[in-house]
Amino acid sequence: MDYGLNEHQRMIVDLAKKIAENDIRPVAAHYDQTGEFPWPVVQKMADSDLFCVFIDEEYGGLANGSRTFQMSLVTEELSKACGGIALAFAGSALGALPIILSGNEEQKRRWLPDVAAGKRLCAFALTEADAGSDAGGIRTTAIRDGDHYVLNGTKQWITNGGEAEIYTVIALTKPEKGARGASALVVEKGTPGLSFGKKEDKMGIRGSVTREVVFQDCRVPVENLLGREGTGFITAMKTFDASRPGVGAQAVGIAQGALDLAVDYATERRQFGSPVSSFQGLRFMLADMAMKVEAARALCYATARHVDSNPMVRPTMYSAMSKCFAGDVAMQVTTDAVQVFGGYGYMRDYPIEKYMRDAKITQIYEGTNQIQREEISKILVSEHIARQPKMVAAAAG
Ligand SMILES: Cc1cc2nc3c(=O)[nH]c(=O)nc-3n(C[C@H](O)[C@H](O)[C@H](O)COP(=O)(O)OP(=O)(O)OC[C@H]3O[C@@H](n4cnc5c(N)ncnc54)[C@H](O)[C@@H]3O)c2cc1C
Repeated sequence: MDYGLNEHQRMIVDLAKKIAENDIRPVAAHYDQTGEFPWPVVQKMADSDLFCVFIDEEYGGLANGSRTFQMSLVTEELSKACGGIALAFAGSALGALPIILSGNEEQKRRWLPDVAAGKRLCAFALTEADAGSDAGGIRTTAIRDGDHYVLNGTKQWITNGGEAEIYTVIALTKPEKGARGASALVVEKGTPGLSFGKKEDKMGIRGSVTREVVFQDCRVPVENLLGREGTGFITAMKTFDASRPGVGAQAVGIAQGALDLAVDYATERRQFGSPVSSFQGLRFMLADMAMKVEAARALCYATARHVDSNPMVRPTMYSAMSKCFAGDVAMQVTTDAVQVFGGYGYMRDYPIEKYMRDAKITQIYEGTNQIQREEISKILVSEHIARQPKMVAAAAG
């Protein structure tokens, strides 16, 4: 299918595909088993300028006005080989977004060139033990003290935690104001008072590291505040608007990777004297899987392009749709892929069950799919209500 990629984007896809096939696929099972952070692969991504694709030219990148789309294309390709290792890349893009979207010129010049060069990874820290879907319930504080903020609290389940050098953190600068008193700040690794807690032992995406990030009287200069005080949740929501198509892309990549393996297997495995791909029951299953993957890809590509070409319009509803739809598709397709493999699909000797484990996270993080449906329906209903008086007036007139 021609997805309308320009020459630059086709080059990016080819490069990501090469890294996925040569550097990720052969080691995916190793990182899945060990849970180690895939530094050699990250180094390869950095050497190949992959981290440039989501950073603007003036800060050392190659975004070319297609930051979200290019980030999604790379995430998809890497995820076809391993949804976990791909997250070292996508998690860094997520962590950089608050700087890209809310940082001032000096802050962008200070941090983004190193991110583009892959010299420093980023991480985004919002979630806490008692504040997941209800992110407004965060308790981490960042209290002003002279020309510093002093951070105290613990962030939970932070992708790239401990490995990243740059943390974009949402914390309460005015705790008495609740969510409206939250601000976004950058905390660099090595800052006294910043430490890392438990590394999670996860079901899937085990090639990605998820850790606690702990602040104990951690002092950061006021220059590290992104945007104005009190705008932390605006930054977080704008970040999710731009990052959710990337989760959708991860889901599409995982689903496509599983579908490819399922088609391969179905044509090789013989029962009743024929390849199992000759049985209509299985063929129709493969057809449904392929249709779902293409539909998810189309929605994710359209959303990513919409995010890039309409920077003044919040794409919240479409971003939520792309993440939610593609995440559900990834779960369905990978589950069906295991079914295509039969009993062998259930065994760790075969690569397919990993895709099913990896797919699950795409329905959970960056807002669960229940929360995405909440957001979509909230916007649908509020837009409908906003149109009502005009419709009544038009009918009367
Ligand atoms: C591997 C991994 C990596 C992560 N990486 C990061 C990261 O880098 N940075 C970061 O800040 N966070 C990260 N997270 C956190 C992630 O975003 C949260 O797990 C997610 O937002 C859901 O929060 P929760 O797990 O506390 O679930 P809960 O909010 O406790 O939800 C429990 C269940 O209730 C449902 N639910 C909750 N509220 C509603 C509602 N209003 N309506 C309907 N259903 C509802 C949920 O859908 C879910 O099914 C990560 C999580 C994981 C597992």
